[in-house]
Amino acid sequence: MNAKENIYEKAAELIEKSKKTIVLTGAGISTESGIPDFRSPGTGLWEKMDPMEALSTRVLYNDPIKFYNNGFKILLSMKDAKPNKAHYILAQLEQEGLISGVITQNIDNLHQKAGSHKVFEVHGQTRTGSCINCGEVVSIDLLNSKVEKNEIPPKCDKCNGILRPDVVMFGDPMPEDFERAWREAESSDLMVVIGSSLTVSPVNFLPGLVKHLIIINKSETPEDRRADVVIRESASEALSTILAYLKIAKN
Ligand SMILES: [Zn+2]
Repeated sequence: MNAKENIYEKAAELIEKSKKTIVLTGAGISTESGIPDFRSPGTGLWEKMDPMEALSTRVLYNDPIKFYNNGFKILLSMKDAKPNKAHYILAQLEQEGLISGVITQNIDNLHQKAGSHKVFEVHGQTRTGSCINCGEVVSIDLLNSKVEKNEIPPKCDKCNGILRPDVVMFGDPMPEDFERAWREAESSDLMVVIGSSLTVSPVNFLPGLVKHLIIINKSETPEDRRADVVIRESASEALSTILAYLKIAKN
């Protein structure tokens, strides 16, 4: 057995021994599904557009035409993305009781599409929008149909307030799911970080709440030094190998 195999086996052992394991995913798990890494500069998507601006509350509220011509199109582009092997393995691990759930920084709905049930969407999601006045929730399709009819900003049918996507933009406070994710992390003894470089605050505080850490990410993270296992590999490759070491039928 070579050293490469050992880290996967060690990861599998940690997962099997842990009383409660929570997973934290970032953009890296969805790149294999064709979703660009939002918050990383230098990717093709952002050569023409600054995400900090295109997906900011400043543009959303002050220049809605610009928002619906730019940032909103990117949100819509995720609708047809399909989960990859990594998403399916996590759904399986939840079903087997080996992980308690997934905290995700992603807004692409791919964990749910793969069959995960307990998902904390700490940066919101692209399934719905809501009225900033009365809280009415609408589908993203309804929001989009209003935008296509040039109703910008789109208005609530109930109170005529402004509708907006339920995505956490730059400038927004963190949603309720973040509080829930915090409590989930606090009650876990192992966290598996997948495809996140742990640079976006306040999500990057979550690994600090958990005693044991497995990190699967292609590049370095600030938590690597205290992690039990660090795997520099794509999410699907790493998880497939770990899965092979897990004795799925638990005694
Ligand atoms: Zn309303």
